[in-house]
Amino acid sequence: MPDMHGKTHRLELSDQTLRDWDAVVLASGPEGIVLDRSAFYPGGGGQPPDHGVLLWGGVETRIVGARKGDDLYLISEEGDPVPPAGTAVRGAITDERRSALMRTHSALHLLCGVVFRDYQCLVTGGNMEPLVARMDFDLSEVPQGFKETVEEACNKEVAADRRIEVVTLPRAEAFALPDIVRTATNLVPPEVEQVRIVDITGLDTQADGGTHVASTRQIGRIRVAKVENKGRGFRRLRIRVEEP
Ligand SMILES: [Zn+2]
Repeated sequence: MPDMHGKTHRLELSDQTLRDWDAVVLASGPEGIVLDRSAFYPGGGGQPPDHGVLLWGGVETRIVGARKGDDLYLISEEGDPVPPAGTAVRGAITDERRSALMRTHSALHLLCGVVFRDYQCLVTGGNMEPLVARMDFDLSEVPQGFKETVEEACNKEVAADRRIEVVTLPRAEAFALPDIVRTATNLVPPEVEQVRIVDITGLDTQADGGTHVASTRQIGRIRVAKVENKGRGFRRLRIRVEEP
């Protein structure tokens, strides 16, 4: 079974390295553009949507976002020509942004695994932009040297070059995995029968729909920029992802 959203086959869920592909426009209008096949990550789970282009007959339509309704609607740059239904297009993703987001998203999962392993605390939220991110978690006392210790532990896991695997499992099997829903907010809706699992081997396993690098070394260097106290055990950790 392909990964479908409405009438669109989502190519990025099974191939996170894909950057350009052929597609046909199924519908286009004020709501956006619907393709039969798309590798544009539409946003979700804290990861913002991809940017890129659709190329057709010498014309370029810039894609700047997506809207998830019954179908997956790609949002074009205001004023750009929009391909009508039936048009064959070449889709392409802006690699710099997507690759940065993959590194950043994987960095957040790595961080989540490290703070759970070393401090047994649960993640309550998170968000990211290319190469910068924040993670919220529940920790009543922040130990001395916490920021430096976490940063060092994270970069040790980067250096360990752990494989990051994506598998899809039937719901019952997925939830039989230990620690599968570590983030309190990351609850999978009951109608979801197949659960996509992102596994940093030996460190962190999460139900997740995002795009990730293939191993932890590909993340680069993780810098813990700031630990903020938001009151009553609510901590916010800000990270930057840098070149190795
Ligand atoms: Zn995630």
